[in-house]
Amino acid sequence: MAIHIIILMNLHLVVKRLFLYYIIMYDTFIGLEVHVHLLTKTKVFCGCRAAFGDEPNTNICPVCMGYPGVLPALNIDAMRMACTVARALHCRIPEQTWFDRKQYFYPDMPKNYQISQFTSPLGQEGWLEIENKTISKKIRIRECHLEEDAGKMIHTGTVSLIDYNRAGIALLEIVTEPDINCGEEAEIFIQQLRRTVRYLGVSDGNMEEGSLRADANISINVQGKGLGNKVEIKNLNSSRFVRLGLDYERTRQAEILDSGGIITQETRLWNENRDRTEIMRTKENANDYRYFPEPDLPLFSADDAFLKSVETALVELPSNRIKRFKAEYQLNGEQAAALCEERPFADYFEAVVCAALTGNAMTKNETAQKAANWLLSDIKHLLACRNTGVENIAALKLKPQRLATIITLVAQGLVSIKNAKQTLAAVIAEDKNPEDVIKEHGWEQISDSKIIGAALDKVYAGEEKTFCEVKEALANGNSKRAATLCAYLTGKILAATQGRANPEIAGKLLNEKIAGINGSHAV
Ligand code: ADP
Ligand code: ZN
Ligand code: MG
Repeated sequence: MAIHIIILMNLHLVVKRLFLYYIIMYDTFIGLEVHVHLLTKTKVFCGCRAAFGDEPNTNICPVCMGYPGVLPALNIDAMRMACTVARALHCRIPEQTWFDRKQYFYPDMPKNYQISQFTSPLGQEGWLEIENKTISKKIRIRECHLEEDAGKMIHTGTVSLIDYNRAGIALLEIVTEPDINCGEEAEIFIQQLRRTVRYLGVSDGNMEEGSLRADANISINVQGKGLGNKVEIKNLNSSRFVRLGLDYERTRQAEILDSGGIITQETRLWNENRDRTEIMRTKENANDYRYFPEPDLPLFSADDAFLKSVETALVELPSNRIKRFKAEYQLNGEQAAALCEERPFADYFEAVVCAALTGNAMTKNETAQKAANWLLSDIKHLLACRNTGVENIAALKLKPQRLATIITLVAQGLVSIKNAKQTLAAVIAEDKNPEDVIKEHGWEQISDSKIIGAALDKVYAGEEKTFCEVKEALANGNSKRAATLCAYLTGKILAATQGRANPEIAGKLLNEKIAGINGSHAV
């Protein structure tokens, strides 16, 4: 009886839950604030070295330590890199832009204020297109601004240590409009932005090392009612955590609204060990920072020469390159995206296609397909074996010309695909030309029907029974069995030629041989 009541009570809750899920639909709004470390040689407002991993507190000076009486000076490279990203994100660069002081105290910030931008960000109103198999949309960029990073605190038991090497390193902050609607879109946005800054060469975008980190803002509201109260998830250091944190937060907020509660505006942190967000603090407002224009730095006016240097730095961006690869080489979307993941890899692909095109009989599309196959399987695999990725293609020390030669030799039937793979390994290991490797190992493919025919006869002598079985299988309409046996016999022929026989010719001769066998021989 008691059990029945419990079941009934639970049933009631389940029905209520289902009812709520299906009746109340929520809109989700997500806006990201992404911080990107710029790869300048020196810090943004002083001449200290901007580097990671140096002995703590060695890259510091009176300016970045906030000593009285010192003056900051803008690092023009930082401004140029920041503006280049802004332009890549289709932002407008205002004629004049300036810096503002953001006041707050924290031990990792010796000046007690951060030089940032507030009322006049260097990049305004742009967009970034995000794309995968199912999603394709433009996310509006509200602004991009330049600021200085804070130092790094290391908490060890009862003491906290501070390393100021990072204090004053150039940081670009990119803020989106709340156009993102789910964790997956946010993840793609981060990946796309990371690819973009890497292509531009202005940041390594390394999330584990903190070169790119994101704060994710999310609110939900009853459909059609506009933005809700937002919660900010701070300091996410992987695009996966961005997705997981936002999806978790969406569910958490929906449950609060479902049960009649209200969402409080607050800052939360993603706990990666518990897979949940946890409260950090209730959110401060912008005017708590008492922003005012930085009196120690002049206005920055982008003159023609500066704007020209920005335009020159704008390389072909990954999204455009993917589109071009699809159109120019007839690659499918997945191939194009995989090849364009990293700029050195995409450059390499084009160098191989270009080199292979001279001197083979294939069309450009065929050549591109072959090059894509090699790069996305064998080359990727070889890099993975060296514990590295496609961004590091140079690590293989394989000249594009050499891979192009291998592709051409296969296309010309001069080496089998199997031996071509061995050739590739040897070319890399021994730093030699493919032709020489093939000659040394005697890996030239045999296309001479007489030699292959002789090998076939040899195989026939030892496998007469199998040949008859094929014949019989064909006669009985058992094509599957016949194919299995033929594959076995082809393998034997190849083995008899040390893998050098052209498999197509071997297959053709094998078929002829079988057709010619007198049926009465069958067992
Ligand atoms: P704050 O002043 O708290 O930093 P901002 O207005 O500067 O807030 O916005 C910061 C980020 O939060 C932006 O990416 C913006 O798109 C996003 N955002 C602002 N309001 C909301 C909201 N209600 N829901 C979701 N995202 C929001
Ligand atoms: Zn300094
Ligand atoms: Mg803000």
